[in-house]
Amino acid sequence: MNAEIISVGTELLLGDVVNTDTAIVARALTTIGVNLLHTVTVGDNPQRLQEALELALSRCDLVITTGGLGPTDDDLTKETIAKTAGQPLVEYPDIRTRIEEYFTGRTISENQYKQAMLPKECHILPNDHGTAPGCVCTTPQGKQVAMLPGPPSELEPMLHSYLIPYLQRANTEVIQSHKIRVFGKGEGAVAKEIDAFTQNANPSAATYASEGEMYVRVTAKAASQEQAEALCKPVVEQIGACLGDFVYGVDVDSLEQCVIDILREQHRTIATAESCTGGLLAKRLTDIPGSSEAFEMGAVTYSNRIKSLLIDVPEELLEQHGAVSEPVARAMAQGVRKKAGSDLGIGITGIAGPDGGSAEKPVGLVYLALSDGKQTWVRNMPGGGMVRSREYYRWRAASTALDMVRRYLNGLPVNP
Ligand code: ATP
Repeated sequence: MNAEIISVGTELLLGDVVNTDTAIVARALTTIGVNLLHTVTVGDNPQRLQEALELALSRCDLVITTGGLGPTDDDLTKETIAKTAGQPLVEYPDIRTRIEEYFTGRTISENQYKQAMLPKECHILPNDHGTAPGCVCTTPQGKQVAMLPGPPSELEPMLHSYLIPYLQRANTEVIQSHKIRVFGKGEGAVAKEIDAFTQNANPSAATYASEGEMYVRVTAKAASQEQAEALCKPVVEQIGACLGDFVYGVDVDSLEQCVIDILREQHRTIATAESCTGGLLAKRLTDIPGSSEAFEMGAVTYSNRIKSLLIDVPEELLEQHGAVSEPVARAMAQGVRKKAGSDLGIGITGIAGPDGGSAEKPVGLVYLALSDGKQTWVRNMPGGGMVRSREYYRWRAASTALDMVRRYLNGLPVNP
């Protein structure tokens, strides 16, 4: 099935609101194997919305609109779509009652009732977080138009609870997909290694880069869930074998989730000492529910004085090698492990930029160390080359530290 998203709202064209709805819908469509071919944004203008709708219907089977379902005069999505689908708008008494209940004890302005008006023949998508319901209606040519509200807090639950299940039911094909998550190998290298699989149509395999890491999505379509899974399984396994220990999980949420899960399983604990990442690693680890079983302590040891005072980094190391150096990262990991009395200690020191770099120590240079009390491993992210944002370096450094821990806990070489 091919789809197009039309986002409605003048605020989007003015740049006042960032179009996150499109990204949310796009991501959800990939999970059910719908091919998104175009995304379009139009202002609150019925004429241009109608033109966009006609064009979308001429080239796709499914059109999803976001926004313009509200009570105000410029909310014209339903009217325009009903006209295009050749259907009158009628009042749905249940929805009117729901609006009345929603406003219990408050005055309801007459225009609120506009939200109870929907195309005569449509499948209603309830709004559990607001008053404007969405709906799906079918055009005389058999194409489908789904309408979702603009506020992401209303759109996202409606999408996942009602529209996606509806599309899955309406589609006789079952779609199954798996996400193979990879750290430490670039998208280009991965794409080359799994070239044989990305050429296939069913199951299809595609690479995606995201926040310093990447994943491969394997998607199969079949008449039943079992058949779709049977198509996916060998391909997921073969791609896994191709990428080896760069794969940190299949269908797992994140590197930090993976690390906390293994730490808890192995009844081990960890402590972190961070400089350039400013506590990001500790934050990512403690974002995971249940991390208190495994996470002992996170210290942001930014200045040299604190590195020595708090986690016993020898002053002479700092003087001799500078704070951003392999020996200091090593001493930070060992020092924080000892202070916390944990099984593992992590030390991170680097230059996140944009200033502070030199020819010898360029922006992006980060040393990461992992100590288990017997041995300490250090990884060096060289920096230099194309200058990226401070956020990027910090995120990548925290991810690299997580990857070192994952490798250690799985008995793999800490540095690939
Ligand atoms: P309401 O009932 O709140 O009026 P609506 O369906 O009519 O909902 P709009 O009036 O188009 O939606 O937008 C309401 C708000 O939702 C916008 O001011 C904006 O904050 C947010 N919004 C709309 N479209 C998007 C979008 N594409 N991405 C992110 N936010 C959006």
